Amino acid sequence: MRRTQAPKVWGLFAEDAMERDLDRAVFAPREPSLAEMTAKAIEILSRHPKGFFLFVEGSQVDWASHGNDPVGVVTELLAFHAAVQVALDYARSRDDTAVFVFSDHGNGGMSLGNALTDGTYSRMSYESVVAPLKRAVLTAEGIAKHIGDNRTESRIREVLRRSWGAGRPDRRRSRPDSRLSRAPFEQCRRSHHERSGQHWMDHPRAHG
Ligand SMILES: [Zn+2]
Repeated sequence: MRRTQAPKVWGLFAEDAMERDLDRAVFAPREPSLAEMTAKAIEILSRHPKGFFLFVEGSQVDWASHGNDPVGVVTELLAFHAAVQVALDYARSRDDTAVFVFSDHGNGGMSLGNALTDGTYSRMSYESVVAPLKRAVLTAEGIAKHIGDNRTESRIREVLRRSWGAGRPDRRRSRPDSRLSRAPFEQCRRSHHERSGQHWMDHPRAHG
């Protein structure tokens, strides 16, 4: 696909949704990034003598937010940012191209600070909020996929430790991890929110 010079191209890279950007390296290393697809689309369409209209959607910022997955939100937004940069770089090389960037609807209601930080909020450092997100090597969806049906407590602890650096729960703060095996995805997410001082207004619901 990267090398094709065909004037009309249909790229279909997954049977269902493509992997989240952070999870691609593990689950689908051959899938292109949003920025790569944007660059190829511009390369093909810009050959048209009458100009072109290109629509690019970074659709999984929304999904990650509906899922209250902070790692997914941040990394999908960064992937979208890279795609916008590709479009802007092209537009800056021209004098006849406009780029419009819009957000989707608000959802999730992610905020920094939660009930556990009520007494310390004014003293919270930027690093204390960002460091847990930077340590993550998979999104919450990627972790759920990695755990699969093998939902033993030890398995969940191991995947969390490797993926989010979250293997040593602070028992004063986190709910008992023995509950992990019942609903691992929800417990992983709650545990991570507590550790990294986030709060979400809306709880997970269907994509929309
Ligand atoms: Zn939505």
